[in-house]
Amino acid sequence: MARQRILTGMRPTGPLHLGHFVGALENWLRLQHEYECYFLIADYQALGDHVDEIERIRRSVFDVAIDWMAVGLDPYESAFVVQGYVPEHAELTMYFSMLTPKSWLDRNPTLKAEMQQIEDEHDTISMGFFNYPLSQAADILLPRADVVPVGDDQLPHIELTREIARKFNRTYGEMFPEPKSLVGRVPRLLGTDGQAKMSKSLDNAIYLSDDAKTVQRKVRRMVTDITGQHPRLQATDPGIVENNPVFLYHDVFNPDTEAVRDLKERYTRGTVSDGEVKDTLVVALNAFLDPVRERRAQIEARPEYVAEVLHAGSERERVIARETIDEVRERMRIVYTPDAMTARLR
Ligand code: ATP
Ligand code: MG
Repeated sequence: MARQRILTGMRPTGPLHLGHFVGALENWLRLQHEYECYFLIADYQALGDHVDEIERIRRSVFDVAIDWMAVGLDPYESAFVVQGYVPEHAELTMYFSMLTPKSWLDRNPTLKAEMQQIEDEHDTISMGFFNYPLSQAADILLPRADVVPVGDDQLPHIELTREIARKFNRTYGEMFPEPKSLVGRVPRLLGTDGQAKMSKSLDNAIYLSDDAKTVQRKVRRMVTDITGQHPRLQATDPGIVENNPVFLYHDVFNPDTEAVRDLKERYTRGTVSDGEVKDTLVVALNAFLDPVRERRAQIEARPEYVAEVLHAGSERERVIARETIDEVRERMRIVYTPDAMTARLR
C-alpha cells in the first residue's frame, strides 16, 4: 500500500529555534520514515511580511534546509521543497481564494493575533499576508497530504484547510483528503522572556545554531517569574516553580528528571540560587545542541550539496503538484486546449 503523505513546513524568515524543535521537528524526525514527506520552505509566504527583504529570505531558505539536516532530517528519504520552485502552489492558492469566503479568514485567531502584532509595529498588512492561511491550505492540499505535524498556533489553519477541501469536494467532486493535524510534544514553547511563544519575530528565542556561550548568555537573562509579582532576590527566598520559564525548559530539555525534581524541591525551599538552576539548564541545552552543531558544521562545509538537495526535493514535489493541478483544472473546467474547447461547444 502507498504510504500516507505529510506536508508541513517553515517560513524562511530566520534561523530555527528550540520551539520549532519541540513543536514540530521532533515529530517530523519520527514520522519521516513512516510517511512520504514533503517539507516545505515557504518563501512565497515569507514575502507576505518581508517583501523588502529578498536577500534575507534567500539566505534563510538555505539556513532552514541546513537546520533541518542538522537535527537529523534525511533529504533522501523526504523531499525538501522550496515553495517558489513549484509555482503550482501559487496557482492552487488563486483557485482556492475564489472558493473561500473572506469571513473564514477574518475569524482566524492566529491570523488576527499576527496582524495585530504587525499593526503594533506600525506596519501595513499586505493582501498576501492576509491570505497566507489560505495559501497554506493550498500547500497542504497540493500533494494531497493526509497528515500535517505542526505547533498549536497552526491548528486554525489546518481547520481552514479541511473546510476548503470539503467545499472543493462538494462543488467539483471528491478529490482532496481532509488532512489531520498532529501537534508536537510541546504545543507551544514559551520564549526566554516569558512571552507565550518563542518566535523569530519576538527576539526571545534560543536558536539551534546558537553556540554554547550564546546559550549561556540567553539562559542567564531568562525571566523566572512571568507575573513579576514574586521577585526572588536571593537564594534563600522560597521560589515558585509553577509556570517558571526556567523550570518549564528543564522539564522539556533536561533528561535527568531526578536532578530536576531535586532542583525544584530546593528552589521551593529556598536552598538553591537562580544561577545554579540556570547553569544546570545551560548544560542540558548544550548537551542537546552539541550533536546538532556537529552535523551543522559538516553540512555548512558543502553548500553545493544543500543546493542540490533543495533542487531534487522540489523537482520531486513538482511531479505530483502538476498531477493535482491538471485534475483541478479539469474539474473546474479551466482547460482551453482546442480539443477541450470544441468538445464543450458540441
Ligand atoms: P515567524 O515569526 O516568522 O512566523 P515562527 O517562529 O512562527 O516564525 P514558522 O515558520 O511560522 O515559525 O512555524 C513553523 C512551525 O514551527 C509551525 O508548525 C509552528 O507551529 C512551529 N512553531 C513555531 N514556534 C513554535 C513554538 N514556540 N512552540 C511550538 N511550535 C512552534
Ligand atoms: Mg509563524
